[in-house]
Amino acid sequence: MSADYEAVIGLEAHVELATVTKLFCGCLNEFGAEPNTNVCPVCLGLPGSLPVLNRTVVEYALRFAAALDFHVPEESIFARKNYFYPDMPKDYQISQYEEPILVDGQIEIDGVRIGIERAHLEEDTGKTTHMGGGGRIHEADYSLVDYNRAGVPLMEIVSRPDIRTAEQARAYVSELRGVLKTIGVSDVKMEEGSMRVDANVSVRKVGATEFGTKVEVKNMNSLRSLGRAIDFEIERQVEAIEAGERIVQETRHWDEADGRTHGMRTKEGSSDYRYFPEPDLVPLAPSAEMRTAAAGQVPELPQARRARLIAEWGIAETDARVLVDVEGLADFAEAAVAALTDGAARDVANWCTGDVLGYLNETGLSIEVLPLAPDGLAELVGLVAAGTLSRNQAKDVLAECLREPKRPKQVVEERGLEQVSDTGALAAVVDEVLAANADAVDEYRAGDDKVKKKKRGFLMGECMKALKGQGNPQMLNQLLDERLG
Ligand code: ADP
Ligand code: ZN
Ligand code: MG
Repeated sequence: MSADYEAVIGLEAHVELATVTKLFCGCLNEFGAEPNTNVCPVCLGLPGSLPVLNRTVVEYALRFAAALDFHVPEESIFARKNYFYPDMPKDYQISQYEEPILVDGQIEIDGVRIGIERAHLEEDTGKTTHMGGGGRIHEADYSLVDYNRAGVPLMEIVSRPDIRTAEQARAYVSELRGVLKTIGVSDVKMEEGSMRVDANVSVRKVGATEFGTKVEVKNMNSLRSLGRAIDFEIERQVEAIEAGERIVQETRHWDEADGRTHGMRTKEGSSDYRYFPEPDLVPLAPSAEMRTAAAGQVPELPQARRARLIAEWGIAETDARVLVDVEGLADFAEAAVAALTDGAARDVANWCTGDVLGYLNETGLSIEVLPLAPDGLAELVGLVAAGTLSRNQAKDVLAECLREPKRPKQVVEERGLEQVSDTGALAAVVDEVLAANADAVDEYRAGDDKVKKKKRGFLMGECMKALKGQGNPQMLNQLLDERLG
């Protein structure tokens, strides 16, 4: 982007709440069921049916409020948002509009406060599948509607336009996701649609006080595409303005394949939705008890956990981030550290972010199904710390323990891997090797630094060869130092 411009970004995240039942009826909130099996008169909008608010949804929203410092007004109001679409059986969506359940929250990203203007509750729509003609409505032979998702509870989380870069937008979503997951209210999978994020993007000249006209970009299904879409859109707007064009307020569609945004329709103004208060629901007024109870259900949040691991284990921020971000990895590491008898927490963290994570990524397995238990990893770290295994040997042992239900000590025994750390045994090998390679020793003694380095490496290699790679390298080095002078 030209240095004369800066971007202004606000994000709207829709999160499916992981309740057992839907927002206003007792139907199961379940992904992947046979189409139109989780439906009833309420979520199908049949005449005479009445919505009843799901208490757990309110509890989840209050928990989220406690996590991100929202203000929870005394009352919030449900409203009807009217529009016609075949996947919305009532022809209106029950949502919150002027008086949402949560206002004024915040997330801190690298020391920058990103305001969250509101979070409100609403019901999801059903799902339409266009059959034939490449899945698009205009070329379809016919369309199928599945109402299982209709009435599933959503929370829409609307940030203030405080975000300035695609990078920051990604960090914001990533943090938001971590928080929602940690407090247990959603599984927040962008790829599966349980979290959908739309980006509002505008640009302005650096130093300008007013915002430019914003464009809303939809259809990003990963953090990566969110970042790409924002970067593309910023560039497109700057080029348009530089070419003397005006930005039109519209909704644009991100196309993952061509890496561009495409105009869809000019955005409806809110007046098009003819919002009015939902007559079938009373105002939502969470009791003091509910508010207090929710605050007590917020566990340690990702930011705090990272800070604690960095302080206690002396690990880098990037490692702490990986541990906390990967499902179950920090729990595993903490359990392993608790089981340590020898070795450092930092070593546990390194194995977790290195070989353990590598194996999880390679196999697509989740950490709970690994045959390796946390105390197995603690045992491995102990074997390295005690000098029984070299790091390279430990790598092999770990690889086996990740695949088969074996303890590290068992693998060491089976393979006869034990590292030779006995001074007498090592000294004998060193003496033999030096005697058998007297030429190399002479050349070492007479040589310059380069020659010394080369001969020294050769002799070390011979010692290791004689010990089948199982000599303790620090001790061998020390013995060689003593003998070679
Ligand atoms: P709308 O009336 O279109 O819903 P809102 O003012 O409610 O617009 O804002 C919707 C989202 O757009 C919020 O996330 C907000 O931060 C963001 N936003 C508002 N104005 C701008 C702007 N000029 N540029 C970028 N984002 C903006
Ligand atoms: Zn139902
Ligand atoms: Mg709005």
